[in-house]
Amino acid sequence: MNRLYAGMPRTIFDVMSGLARERGAVNLGQGFPEEDGPSDLKEAVARATLDHSNQYPPMMGLPALREAVAAHYKRVQGVDLDWTREVTITSGATEAIAAAILAVLNPGEEAVLVEPMYDAYRPLVERAGGVARYVRLAPPDWRIPRDALAAAFTEKTRAIVLNSPVNPSASLLVREDLEMVAEECIARGVIAISDEVWEHVTFDGAAHVSILNIPGMRERAIKIGSAGKMFSMTGWKVGFICAAPALTDIVAKAHQFLTFTTPPNLQFGAAYGLAKGDDYFAAMRAGFQRSRDRMAQALRHEGFAILPCAGTYFLNIDLAASGVALAAEDFALRAVNEHGVASIPLTPFYASAPPAQMLRLCFAKRDDTLDRGVERLAAARRAYA
Ligand code: GLN
Repeated sequence: MNRLYAGMPRTIFDVMSGLARERGAVNLGQGFPEEDGPSDLKEAVARATLDHSNQYPPMMGLPALREAVAAHYKRVQGVDLDWTREVTITSGATEAIAAAILAVLNPGEEAVLVEPMYDAYRPLVERAGGVARYVRLAPPDWRIPRDALAAAFTEKTRAIVLNSPVNPSASLLVREDLEMVAEECIARGVIAISDEVWEHVTFDGAAHVSILNIPGMRERAIKIGSAGKMFSMTGWKVGFICAAPALTDIVAKAHQFLTFTTPPNLQFGAAYGLAKGDDYFAAMRAGFQRSRDRMAQALRHEGFAILPCAGTYFLNIDLAASGVALAAEDFALRAVNEHGVASIPLTPFYASAPPAQMLRLCFAKRDDTLDRGVERLAAARRAYA
């Protein structure tokens, strides 16, 4: 069997959601909204299932969705995309990331990963035969350190994987940092693979900056988006890849042998959603921001030290500063098994030397779920102080 997969654990998100189901725990682990997104989108999918063909859509996606993706990014980010040559639909953003990495790297070539990093990046780089090099961001501001960035690039670097807003640190990569990355990419002919699935989940008026809007990157960046995140339907698994034609050509060839295409009814639903006005996206942000603030206040009230959150569904707790004596992994396991609340330790987001006591919580939940979850975390905190 393949050594990489044989030697790795199941992803923490599935492990924690599995334990939460088994124990009937409050699930503040895996990042998904407790409430589904708008019901008119579900109706659009239902109608499409009944009224349209359920046979293979085109490999690159339904024209209606590809057009909608280009129109959406033009409207909200001012990016000009030719939908016929620069937009590919995938079965979720994880597939998009896989396709992009497979399309860019040859065995032995290097990819720069920015820690903390979403847990799929490293195995995908390594399974492609690539070698990962790391740049580490540190709290509280999680900025990209210039020296470490320059040191991570070598003659063999072909790609850098970016993620903003950042899962799990809940920070945004600021324009200045993206420009610094762009400088390195341009100087060395490196492609940026930019996971922007949280682009609409930003708070306190902060605006998302897309890599495609950084001068010099339009031709050398692969932007990845997610309908699941935009419409609070994480099970839909509909992703978008936006990239210049020369990149799209190759990425699409990777995609054609991963999933080939994506269920047509869900593509119609996503196309319908992308036409929603700014008010929908503003209301979604406001709702999540309210939940963030509710959870933050409750956690502080219970004596937890929490980090700032500028985007994503996540708040991070510094367990050490909260007076907890356990490592985050132990705390998370005991909290779900003994106190009925699931969370995510930050350990799997690092290749080595993870911060020992950082814990990620998802706040995209109903008020009563947040309140019960925090109560249970508080009980765990008292038990392991
Ligand atoms: N993005 C989700 C999270 O960070 C997990 C997605 C998944 O489990 N595949 O919690």
